[in-house]
Amino acid sequence: MTEPTIYELSSPGRTGVTFPVPDVPLAKLPQNLLRKELPLPELAEVDVVRHYIALSKYNYSVDDGLYPLGSCTMKYNPKINEDTARLPGFAYTHPLQPVETVQGNLALMFTLQEWLKEISGFAALTLQPAAGAHGELTGVLIMRAYHRDRGDPKRVRMLIPDSAHGTNPASSAMSNLEVVQIPSDARGNLDLVALKAACDDATVGLMLTNPNTLGLFDEHLEQVIKIVHDCGGLVYGDGANLNALLGILRPADVGFDVMHFNLHKTFSTPHGGGGPGSGPVGVSEKLADFLPAPLVGIIEEGSDEEPPLFGFVTPKKSIGRVKAFHGHFGMMVRTYTYISMHGPDGLRKIAEYAVLNANYVKARLKGVYTVPFDRICMHEFVVEGQWAEAPGIRALDVAKRLMDYDFHPPTNYFPLIVHEALMIEPTETENKRTLDAFADALLKIADEAKTTPSLLHEAPHKTPFGRMDEVKAARELVLCCWLPEDYGD
Ligand SMILES: *Cc1c(COP(=O)(O)O)cnc(C)c1O
Repeated sequence: MTEPTIYELSSPGRTGVTFPVPDVPLAKLPQNLLRKELPLPELAEVDVVRHYIALSKYNYSVDDGLYPLGSCTMKYNPKINEDTARLPGFAYTHPLQPVETVQGNLALMFTLQEWLKEISGFAALTLQPAAGAHGELTGVLIMRAYHRDRGDPKRVRMLIPDSAHGTNPASSAMSNLEVVQIPSDARGNLDLVALKAACDDATVGLMLTNPNTLGLFDEHLEQVIKIVHDCGGLVYGDGANLNALLGILRPADVGFDVMHFNLHKTFSTPHGGGGPGSGPVGVSEKLADFLPAPLVGIIEEGSDEEPPLFGFVTPKKSIGRVKAFHGHFGMMVRTYTYISMHGPDGLRKIAEYAVLNANYVKARLKGVYTVPFDRICMHEFVVEGQWAEAPGIRALDVAKRLMDYDFHPPTNYFPLIVHEALMIEPTETENKRTLDAFADALLKIADEAKTTPSLLHEAPHKTPFGRMDEVKAARELVLCCWLPEDYGD
């Protein structure tokens, strides 16, 4: 640790707060609530500010530079999203307020439902789920409920490609379904023969990411969907890669029955520390009755003089609530802002530039890095971080060395079907100069791998920490705050 902890900075008697002179009589605090042994740090305001600013500088973010983390769509988050999310009418409302007092919020949610339906082609949509994985769980529960409602409860198997994100089998397992893995073919498409063989009257459906995690559009998409429908299954679309399709292809139009959106990917709301995610789910007409409740709906039609009255509605066969209150409203405001700022043509440009940028970087790396499924890619692509001339170098070494060139590493070791995978998604928000600097760094690293491999093995050199012991971190998880050694058990 190069920074002292806030406890080590503590000095008895320092304080960072000034209490106002009380204008009420003083009362004694209940003694049993006061813990003498609680080691609260004592610091001045300036110590606290400098401590956290120093820690924050160890972070890397989309505001620092390129974040080519494949599958995650780490695009720039426009600051106007933050301005609108902080408008008092949005920020200071409570989900339990009477609907008459939050008509603006409900109108925004209703409009966003309509926009996401228009973008995807689905008939109905919920904004409740908290993230992509949660949207998957919601979608899978809807698929299960649909089959049970039809009197077909023997459908217990979900088909999932071997290139899928781990959340797909996880959501199916959590829904008490069996997972059947379907292999990819030599061109990176789903293997049609294997799909046909697996699809039967016990199939709930298929979870398909398209473009898939190799960044490839399935060349037999319509056939794939038809095979699943022909055996009575439903097709779930993992919408994490919607950034490649915005304004170009509507998943419902080609036969997807249900799909989640990742607002924190495609629609520029923050990931991780910047705020919660959001994973709305769209469904086709026949699944609409099963959506979680409540949805925002029009309770009373408006007229020329009067706006409509918005409120909450419960679909007839709803699977129930999947989230407290109505989902992450702040993310809905940001998404609404983002869609308004771009408009239909702008949304299409997002997809076009995302695809162009990925193909540009891929073309620059090709020949030096092995591209395992070498087709025109969509918004991302996968290369191998290994060379016959550089024995001992792994994708991890390339990723760590990139940090010395001030770039966040790409996703590595995913998808699992590519050895030493480096999965690169530049996103549309990067300009050519940045893309070139990134490609230059990767080409230089490939050269170093063969001439001075120790540079890679020992990387990163510039960060406050070197390589973490990831196994120890996972096995000996410390979830508690730092405590002084003499604190006891
Ligand atoms: C990100 C991602 C998910 C999961 O979404 P979260 O919002 O992170 O829960 C699922 N599938 C794919 C392909 C993804 O990239």
